[in-house]
This record gives sequence, C-alpha cells and structure tokens, in this order.
Amino acid sequence: MAQIRIENVRKDFGAFNAVKSSTFTIEDGEFFMLLGPSGCGKTTTLRMMAGLELPTSGEIYIDGEEVGMKRASQRDIAFVFQMFALYPHMNVGQNISYPLRSQGMPRAQVKRKVAEVARILGIEDILSRPVGGLSGGDRQRVALGRAIVRDPKAFFMDEPLGALDAEFREHMSQELRALHDRMGATTVYVTHDQLEAMQMGDKIVVMNHGVVEQFGVPQQIYDWPATKFVAEFIGSPPMNFLDFRGTVGNGATEVHVGDCTIALPRQRTGASGELTLGVRPEHVRLSDAAPYRGRIVATEYLGTTQIITLDCEHGRIKARVPSHEVIRVGDRTGLDFDARTLTLFAAGTGRALVSDANHEVLSHG
Ligand code: ATP
Repeated sequence: MAQIRIENVRKDFGAFNAVKSSTFTIEDGEFFMLLGPSGCGKTTTLRMMAGLELPTSGEIYIDGEEVGMKRASQRDIAFVFQMFALYPHMNVGQNISYPLRSQGMPRAQVKRKVAEVARILGIEDILSRPVGGLSGGDRQRVALGRAIVRDPKAFFMDEPLGALDAEFREHMSQELRALHDRMGATTVYVTHDQLEAMQMGDKIVVMNHGVVEQFGVPQQIYDWPATKFVAEFIGSPPMNFLDFRGTVGNGATEVHVGDCTIALPRQRTGASGELTLGVRPEHVRLSDAAPYRGRIVATEYLGTTQIITLDCEHGRIKARVPSHEVIRVGDRTGLDFDARTLTLFAAGTGRALVSDANHEVLSHG
C-alpha cells in the first residue's frame, strides 16, 4: 500500500521536453489512470515513478519518502507490461513463484503464497500447466500473479490490455478492477482509451504534450473539463464548442451568441474577447421554440439514442436525443441548452472560466 506524490517533475530527452512540470498525488489504495493521446508522456511519467527513468528535475515521494535516488528494485513496485513475457520453460506455478524463489524465500512459504495468489486469481487448477498453451486471459492472470505474489507497495500497469480484442479486453478490465477492489493496493494504470479510464479509474490525470491538463474523479473530468482539450478528449461524441466574441463579467447570468441569449451558470471569472461555450451532446435539446437555430445535416441511430448533427451559425453541433424523436435531415430547428451544464472557455488559452458553485474544477495551474 502506498501514497505516491510527484512534484514539479520534468523530463527532457536531449532538447525534447517530454514531460513538463507535473504535480499530482495518488492516494493509498487508489486505482489511478494516466490518460492521454499517444506521445503525451504517460509512459515516461510512469517510468519515472517506478525508478526506470530519472526525472530531469522535480521530486517523487512514495509514502512521504523522497525516492529520487532509489533504484527501481528498491521502490517495491510491481510492473505489469502490455507484452506480459512469461518464462516459457516454466509452468504456471513456477512462473508465479519465480520472484519469491529468486529472493531465497523458504519453499513452504513460497508454496503457501503461490496457492493464495492462485486462489485470488481463480487459476488453482492450471498451476502445473506449461504456459505455452494458455489462452490470452490466463497468460494475463499468470503475469498478474507474478506481480501480486511479491506483495508490492503498488502496481504499475502500462496499457496491459492493449493487445486484447474488444470483448475480452472489457472482461479483463472488469476482472482487474475487481481484483484491485479485493486487494486494495495502489494501482497506476496507463491508457489512451478514455472509456477504459472512465470505467476503471477512481481518479484520472489527463495529459497532453507533456502537460497535466486536469486531475480529478471521472465525473468531475467529464462534467467540468478544465480545458477544451479535456472536453474534446473525454466523451463520445466530444463536447460541442460555440465560438463567439463577448464579455462575461463576474456574476453574469447570460451570454449573447449572435442574436441569441444563452443563460449561464454562476460565473467565477470575468472574461472578454474570444470565448467558447462548451456543451455536451446530451445537454442539447431540440425545440422548435428555441431562438438559436440550426439545420439538421445527419442522423446516426444508436439504439436507445440517436446523434443528430446540426449546422449552426457558430459551427457544427451534435445532439444526443431519444431515438423515438422524429428527426428529418434538411429541417431547421431550435436548440436549447441547459445553463447548469454549460462550460465557458477562453478561446486563446482553452482554459475553462466558468465553474458551478457546487463543484471544484481540479486543474493543474
Ligand atoms: P504511447 O502511448 O505512444 O507510448 P505516451 O504518452 O506513453 O505514448 P511516452 O512514451 O511517455 O508517451 O513518450 C513521450 C514522448 O517522449 C514521445 O514523443 C516519445 O517519442 C518521447 N520519448 C520517450 N522515450 C524517449 C527516449 N528514451 N528518448 C527520446 N525520446 C523519448
């Protein structure tokens, strides 16, 4: 069990700055997701926490102790890689027990620990099988078993399910989460899949170009994105943006978008100039009476809901509406937005300006 804190951590590879100044805390027992597009610095951040890569500057603490000078083997962390390499000449039990045997643990104790891990993973019946003929899921379980058996302080996983097909991946992700809930060990998990991060994580860090864009629980990140990048990266379809020029003073309750007035939640920060209003597709209502107008250009049937694409004065908007609503391509309609769900961004910086009284946007400033 471990709390992990990284403070102002930066990593340069020669002249290239892969991770900018990152600061966040992973609490003891959390299932923590490092999320972002390819090349954003997730793996580098994980490797620095594990001691496999030296930060260029900044500090890393495990349970309050600065571990900068500790090698990976001294940090008591178990790594589970995407390519879970098992020893092909050993059977399942020998693969799992290997880390203990190489530490010189007495035989009886090794046997007891392997039996316990096999029970947790539900693989008691395959302990004497060679690993060669195992299914992907069983190979993954053996790799996990080899990590769990050491009782490490934390588990680090780098896209561990990346090579699996969609259905099996979903099954294994549920299994991993359930395993975490039984064991309660701090787990740090790298993924570029926003759905996986939302479904599995207690907390998420969203990274982009080496920068921590936002840090928080999944609902916070979805409902109150701190930046336009987060608003687009999380959610499918992503948040809609309406760009306009205007002024929003402290305490303003509405903005004018073209000829229309759109109500806003409570303002925290005043802003003027180029602004962007963000609205999730499920918070767009189609209503003939609404003054903000759009033309329907496409419909996409998804079972219980449908995605409607509309061309509006300030760009293209997608709305998620119930499937039973009759929608015709080519029609013009009004669009209504629920003020409580809108987010306002400064167009220049892409940072959110509006925050509801009931929530805190946890963004890394
Ligand atoms: P992916 O999911 O594609 O692995 P990532 O978010 O994990 O992406 P990193 O692997 O951390 O990204 O890489 C961040 C950036 O640093 C990338 O541009 C990568 O090319 C670069 N990088 C990583 N390791 C090295 C290295 N050893 N030398 C030079 N550049 C590196």
